[in-house]
Amino acid sequence: MFLVPFTHHRPASLDEVFETLGRHGDDAAVYAGGTELLLALKARVLRYEHLIDLKQVKELSGIRVEGKELVIGALATHHQIANSDVVKAHVPAYAALSEEVANIRVRAAGTLAGNLAFAEPHSDPPSLLSAMDATLVLVSPGGKRAVPMRAFILSEFTTAREENELIAEIRIPVTAAGEGFAYRKFGHLERPAVGASAGCIMREGKPSYRLWFGAIGDHPLQATEIEDAIAGVPATSLPDVLPRAARDCAAGISTASDLHGSADYKQHLASVLIQRALAAACEAAQNKGGANA
Ligand SMILES: Cc1cc2nc3c(=O)[nH]c(=O)nc-3n(C[C@H](O)[C@H](O)[C@H](O)COP(=O)(O)OP(=O)(O)OC[C@H]3O[C@@H](n4cnc5c(N)ncnc54)[C@H](O)[C@@H]3O)c2cc1C
Repeated sequence: MFLVPFTHHRPASLDEVFETLGRHGDDAAVYAGGTELLLALKARVLRYEHLIDLKQVKELSGIRVEGKELVIGALATHHQIANSDVVKAHVPAYAALSEEVANIRVRAAGTLAGNLAFAEPHSDPPSLLSAMDATLVLVSPGGKRAVPMRAFILSEFTTAREENELIAEIRIPVTAAGEGFAYRKFGHLERPAVGASAGCIMREGKPSYRLWFGAIGDHPLQATEIEDAIAGVPATSLPDVLPRAARDCAAGISTASDLHGSADYKQHLASVLIQRALAAACEAAQNKGGANA
């Protein structure tokens, strides 16, 4: 289906973006890669008279390290993130995830910020970013505010972002020695049916674990039941407790049968994937230098 005619804007600064948004209100939308927005416009699910291309806005570009955080600008594509030496060196598990998002055409144009702002539930980044304690910096004419990734996605296609706010950047704590993160997913359609993310943090010989599910619900789900069951358990003893805790927790996830699989099947995937993700995270934490996968 063809796009309904619209006026195209190419602002060069955030001030110009907000000025254009202010002028056109609900009739305008921003976009970066357009991989989600243009499909929705073509399908007539959304309709805007004015489209604002963010790609010339320098304030939203770049990937860099600031102190102990990796900062990913809103215009960074999945492909740029996957191939960035800075990301690979400082947050290797996130580079590995980016390499597997969608297909090369979508990765080349689609941005991480666009993925998070759209909040399509069958998405890879949110569960790992939650496990990594990432933060989104939102910017509006009134200033900036930080929102933890864990609190950003409220339900499908709904986020904590106010209408006059843009995602400016995503900040991910640099993975330190003794920390490991990993993401595992499975799906037979283009997007993941279920994703599972794990973090293993070793401090003075004592482990702590962070576990999150993605895609199986309408927002990322923290697997607190498993985290509680394995709290303080050394990585080598996890096989004694983890399988049962994972099975019990996954069985309690509220999920619907749909094109991605039956509810039972997705719960089974969740149980298996979270165990695999945690095993990979623990292995990465033990590798000096954090060679996460
Ligand atoms: C065929 C296909 C397969 C896919 N498979 C996967 C997959 O396997 N895993 C996965 O995780 N994802 C998948 N995706 C989703 C993909 O990751 C997103 O389409 C992409 O990241 C969106 O980025 P974009 O820059 O193109 O967003 P756009 O389409 O430009 O924008 C999307 C939405 O975000 C808003 N937006 C964009 N940038 C900002 C900003 N800075 N601040 C506020 N709002 C903003 C726009 O207004 C719009 O509502 C798939 C998509 C397609 C089309």
